[in-house]
Amino acid sequence: MTDDDDSMECQQCGICCKVFGDSISPTSENIYHWLTNNRSDILCHFSACFANSKWKNCAELHPDEIGSIITVEMRDPETGMLVSSCPFLMRVSKKRYICSIHAEKPDMCNNYKPWIWGETYLRRCRTIVDREHTTSWQNEHTD
Ligand code: SF4
Ligand code: SF4
Repeated sequence: MTDDDDSMECQQCGICCKVFGDSISPTSENIYHWLTNNRSDILCHFSACFANSKWKNCAELHPDEIGSIITVEMRDPETGMLVSSCPFLMRVSKKRYICSIHAEKPDMCNNYKPWIWGETYLRRCRTIVDREHTTSWQNEHTD
């Protein structure tokens, strides 16, 4: 979900966050930023795996450890289990969702603009659907 000023086309239906949200993985830069800004409230929802196959909750990381991380997964902070949906997605009205960590969200989320990428598998993205309707209407009414 994107809702920054230069991507106002996202209609905040929340579908992409529901479909992909549990597989969001932050970059090393995201993790470093959260660590140095004391965002353990965000970090605790991710776990890092190291080359020795040991896992560590990201809220317990030291910045020096970031370079040794092999992969990062979104996991329940209490159980360490994989989650079924992104914990940061917040419903604010019947058809509108927002990201509760919008200003701090992972790069993957900031960069997600399926209407620009020409994605065809996220058919329920409200912006893609509207664009296709507009294009189809224009084609029907253009000589
Ligand atoms: S972090 Fe925010 S934008 Fe990213 S999947 Fe979760 S709710 Fe959506
Ligand atoms: S599915 Fe499309 S319109 Fe809905 S939140 Fe994601 S990018 Fe925005």
